[in-house]
Amino acid sequence: MIRFPFNINPFKKISISAQLFLNYLFLFILLLLVLVLTSVIGAYNIGKHYESNEMGPFSINESIDSYGPKKAFEIHKLPEDSYIEVLDSKLTVIDQYNSSHNIGYTYPQSIFNRLALNYSEGYELHYSTEKDTITLIFNNNYSEAKEIKFFKRLYIYLLLFFIISVLLVLIIYAKLTSKTLVRPIRKILEGVTTISDGDYRTKIDYKSRNELGYLIESINQMSEKIQHEIDLREKSEDNRRKLILDISHDLKTPLTNILGYSETLHHAKELEKDLKNEYLDIIISNSKKANNLIQDLFELSHMENSNSDIPLANRDFSEFIREILVGYIPELDDNNIDYDFDIPDREINVKMDSQKLERAINNIINNSIKYREKNMSLKLKLEDTNNKAILTIEDSGIGIPYEFAESIFDPFVRTDNSRNSKTGGTGLGLAISKSIIKIHGGSIKLDTSYRDGCRFVISIPKSS
Ligand code: ADP
Repeated sequence: MIRFPFNINPFKKISISAQLFLNYLFLFILLLLVLVLTSVIGAYNIGKHYESNEMGPFSINESIDSYGPKKAFEIHKLPEDSYIEVLDSKLTVIDQYNSSHNIGYTYPQSIFNRLALNYSEGYELHYSTEKDTITLIFNNNYSEAKEIKFFKRLYIYLLLFFIISVLLVLIIYAKLTSKTLVRPIRKILEGVTTISDGDYRTKIDYKSRNELGYLIESINQMSEKIQHEIDLREKSEDNRRKLILDISHDLKTPLTNILGYSETLHHAKELEKDLKNEYLDIIISNSKKANNLIQDLFELSHMENSNSDIPLANRDFSEFIREILVGYIPELDDNNIDYDFDIPDREINVKMDSQKLERAINNIINNSIKYREKNMSLKLKLEDTNNKAILTIEDSGIGIPYEFAESIFDPFVRTDNSRNSKTGGTGLGLAISKSIIKIHGGSIKLDTSYRDGCRFVISIPKSS
């Protein structure tokens, strides 16, 4: 995998423009390197050419000056049919090697002129003004045509090398750009296609340090949110189905009883009066059950639909609780229930719908009485905190198992042992209490740290 050399910290965010700038810089440096490499290769080849070329234009003259024609001939390994002559200013050979002209031979001016002009034929002349001599070198292998051929070939090689190197650099650059831009876009496209097919659990699994990385994060968050909404909708749909099932179930028993006993009364005209009254009692109690259930259901749905539409009035919460508790004292005394109420004397103002809030608190206190054990005690404490009134209702009854802490406030949820008990509750009391408290901007929680019964903590915002 090609890694961009400037990506030092893989977690550091970098903008696309900065990333592209670095990529271009990288491309520029690579191209520069290719250019330098091509020049170096060219220079090296030219050097090598002259080095291996017997007619190395500078060195052979120096060799002739230093060692004479014979030694220079050997050093520079001139081909056999080559020769070296040293002429004086009168064009007379004063030294030579391998030449057919002996020392003393004088070139006619016209011939010399022709030689001087025939450089391309392998003749090369060097004039030394210092010594007033002319060095004539004949090398059959050396000609201008050959030189041109060599440079032409070198030029083609260098051009090919340059083109191939540039192509390679461009491939590397394309890979780099693809890593920065094309690959994340392709991943985004794949992810978005899957998401648009309805699979919101899919996550685009690609880390990108530029803006595309933010886009990927946003798309992932968006699909997570949509999935969450779908889950919620499915859950609420399940709840709705369960609610209908629970309502039907809870209405079925009293209605069946009412129907059964009414029919018996209707058909069996000869029934004894006592039995008739017993049947009528059963009909009345089942009618009450059905009626309570329907009333509670109505109240709950009214509460959940009205939300903030219910008008609330300012009232002293301490006084309000005291008034409720006074009403309970005879019942608590009659049932030998110990009680301990801790209500502050000072005013704690709360915006409330007294009737509804009373119903919410009554549900909790009534439950404490309903689900009591022997020697039950009931404690109620009201606290005034910074911006909330906190009411704690605590009993030493049978308690609610820990796992019901959240669901106990859902409609028709009852703990196992109470479901079959003869408490006669509708299973909607806590759900109604929670809805009412919610309308007051407050909350109700079951304190799971309390193990000796039930402890409900209600908190309601203060108005001033
Ligand atoms: P119900 O009409 O059944 O009382 P609620 O919504 O008022 O309906 O209460 C739901 C269930 O919570 C009850 O059936 C009971 O099992 C449990 N519960 C509520 N309050 C208490 C309590 N103080 N002690 C023990 N169990 C309780």
